[in-house]
Amino acid sequence: MSECNHDCSTCSKDCKERTPEQKTKLNKNSKVGKLYAVMSAKGGVGKSMVTAQLSVLTRRLGKSVAVMDADITGASMTKYFGISEKAVGNDMGILPAESVTGIKIVSINMFLKDDNSPVVWRASLATGAVTQFWTDVYWGDVDVMFIDMPPGTGDIPLTVCQSLPVDGIIIVTSPQDLVSTIVNKGVKMAEMLNIPVVALVENMSYYECDKCGEKLYIFGESKLQKTASQMGVEDVAAIPISPILSRACDSGAIEYFDGNWLEEIAGKL
Ligand code: ADP
Repeated sequence: MSECNHDCSTCSKDCKERTPEQKTKLNKNSKVGKLYAVMSAKGGVGKSMVTAQLSVLTRRLGKSVAVMDADITGASMTKYFGISEKAVGNDMGILPAESVTGIKIVSINMFLKDDNSPVVWRASLATGAVTQFWTDVYWGDVDVMFIDMPPGTGDIPLTVCQSLPVDGIIIVTSPQDLVSTIVNKGVKMAEMLNIPVVALVENMSYYECDKCGEKLYIFGESKLQKTASQMGVEDVAAIPISPILSRACDSGAIEYFDGNWLEEIAGKL
């Protein structure tokens, strides 16, 4: 994590200058090694898919992995992992659901009677739910936790980055967004909060022809490398448009999907 800038409102470092009121305490029976927030400037660019794939790949490396679904109004982690059970708890705290390969997952859907009910909540309530995921869930001993953030730079991303000990941010974009200013907003927010952007992922970067393997850059040539070097981000990945990936996400089978585009990034987390 970067150095403290002595201003707790714009710095995420969990140092002794931060007062107890400014910190959100992790569940007392749990331990989280590394914490990464997956962010995007807008919805629908594949942020949740990247969160899910990164957690699957990190798990395949033998680490204990957890996913906190902080995208309260657009929660999709339970769908990606095919989880239908509801939250239960014991003396240690609320128990996360566990995926087929042992990834611990908490999502607001686990607390709703009906997954299809919309979450029509004020920002303060939604933000409260996310901080409770940190304090009240018995995560146990986790090597790497990923937080699937809501899109944008609103209340929840700000609270997460300021009050949880986030080690790094992974930004997910679409090819069109890479040339626009909205990606820069995410990067600027990370800078203001003193959290490093550890990777930039361009999703739906190209389409690979089934027959000849040619890569078709449907949205124009990739600007990923250029943008990443402008931002000073070393680790990048480009993910193609893939109907098989889409089906895996939508049918709860992301753990059975065999894509290696994020392998290098996962190996460094
Ligand atoms: P976000 O979290 O940014 O709102 P999602 O990860 O939920 O976006 O993705 C939105 C939809 O697009 C999902 O149905 C997902 O399966 C699909 N999708 C995401 N990335 C790809 C891709 N590379 N190829 C095909 N479908 C994708």
